[in-house]
Amino acid sequence: MISEAAKQLLIQIVGRENYDDSKAGRLVYSYDATPQFQAIPEAVMAPRNTKEVSEIVKVCAEYRIPIVPRGSGTNLCAGTCPIEGGIVLLFKHMNRILEIDEDNLTATVQPGVITLDLIKSVEEKGLFYPPDPSSMKISTIGGNINENSGGLRGLKYGVTRDYVLGLEAVLANGDVIRTGGKLAKDVAGYDLTRLLVGSEGTLGIITEATLKLVPMPEAKKTMLALYQDLEAAARSVSKIIASKIIPATLEFLDQPTLRVVEDYAQIGLPTDVKAVLLIEQDGAREVVEREMRQIERICKEEQAVSVQLARSEQEADALRTARRSALSALARLRPTTILEDATVPRSEIAKMVTAINEIAEKYRVMICTFGHAGDGNLHPTCPTDARDDEEMERVEAAFAEIFAKAIELGGTITGEHGVGAMKAPYLEWKLGKEGVEVMQAIKRALDPYNIMNPGKVFAKSTRKRVVVTK
Ligand SMILES: Cc1cc2nc3c(=O)[nH]c(=O)nc-3n(C[C@H](O)[C@H](O)[C@H](O)COP(=O)(O)OP(=O)(O)OC[C@H]3O[C@@H](n4cnc5c(N)ncnc54)[C@H](O)[C@@H]3O)c2cc1C
Repeated sequence: MISEAAKQLLIQIVGRENYDDSKAGRLVYSYDATPQFQAIPEAVMAPRNTKEVSEIVKVCAEYRIPIVPRGSGTNLCAGTCPIEGGIVLLFKHMNRILEIDEDNLTATVQPGVITLDLIKSVEEKGLFYPPDPSSMKISTIGGNINENSGGLRGLKYGVTRDYVLGLEAVLANGDVIRTGGKLAKDVAGYDLTRLLVGSEGTLGIITEATLKLVPMPEAKKTMLALYQDLEAAARSVSKIIASKIIPATLEFLDQPTLRVVEDYAQIGLPTDVKAVLLIEQDGAREVVEREMRQIERICKEEQAVSVQLARSEQEADALRTARRSALSALARLRPTTILEDATVPRSEIAKMVTAINEIAEKYRVMICTFGHAGDGNLHPTCPTDARDDEEMERVEAAFAEIFAKAIELGGTITGEHGVGAMKAPYLEWKLGKEGVEVMQAIKRALDPYNIMNPGKVFAKSTRKRVVVTK
């Protein structure tokens, strides 16, 4: 409960217009992109600068009020669902690109900057910010950093973590720290930047980030390889990489996903094949030409029934957009869409895809699979209906078995979506008891009153999803 005294202190910091405890205002921030999780916060606040964030945190620490930092709420792990109440903190006023430094190849931004806005702004200067989650039109840099998000370009360029050079963060006692900076090299003490990246708002609030940029690649080519055999597609992935080519993008869509995506995007994708690979390479023109020819040869050797090169940038863009719209397209099928991101070593992709199909059959649920094949990061997605308890039990059981299989194959429960409240019950499967205890010790040291996004990452005893309405 936020007492009247605490409320007045919080309003003094941000002004009445940036403190909303109306029922309607709170309801809007009671959920995120994760199905089946809802909890109403006690207030929603929008600070204007780091000083205000720090003052808010000090009041929250004194009154033990939970704080849930929130970008655009597109996370898929119930990471911004305020399951223990408290305040949802928005960054709509802290959304500026502060600097693009062409000498040091860095961009310094506030957390509320939309990912695509940053990508476009640096591209105008001939620079490149590679992390490109499919949600980039709406996701924020603060959210990307806290989930350590990946994207279509992750195989060659890495994920958000690989581009975070420095951070400004407000800790759970209100202290403001700066980590890293515009430095290419810095080994002064523990790497706190890396600790904060992917911490899901549980260790501190990011108020500024310095990001690495790279030069824009000279050329890019896009190709679609079609298969009548899932395993042949998976074998192509392994063989391309084993031949020492790292494509910029190597995405996989199975037939059910293809059909739904084509129905949604209407760009003429083939729907009579079992799987497609969307493959892109960028870099120096000659290298791109040569490597795309090699990739084409490998795909054909592995029984691709057709390999088509995009004839124009417009056509290539349509293919990328179609892939990025896979989740939205699947979401049209049934009232609830559960998307997971079990990840395996890329050599195990074929086994994992086969296992997902067998598990779907065993539990009589529909599972469509697409994902970042080159990263081993698959998105088995289940269109279902949360109102049907019996079906939901089967869906839960199917996903539990998918996670167990991923771990058995040397993989993980999440490759890029984070743990949040949704995957918390499975964290120990991946880390073991001792691994979870180390993380809990870090959490206790940095947030002794457990006010920073409580209820996330570390599991309560239940595995059930929560719907709390106050
Ligand atoms: C259609 C769709 C496609 C997607 N595609 C991808 C994809 O390709 N790759 C991928 O990795 N993910 C993807 N996602 C998941 C999601 O978009 C990412 O996790 C994204 O980074 C979340 O950004 P956001 O601004 O919405 O953050 P939110 O969802 O608001 O927050 C995410 C987490 O960050 C914390 N947080 C936010 N801002 C701050 C801050 N300033 N300080 C501290 N903590 C903070 C929150 O507390 C929360 O734990 C997709 C989601 C959707 C709906």
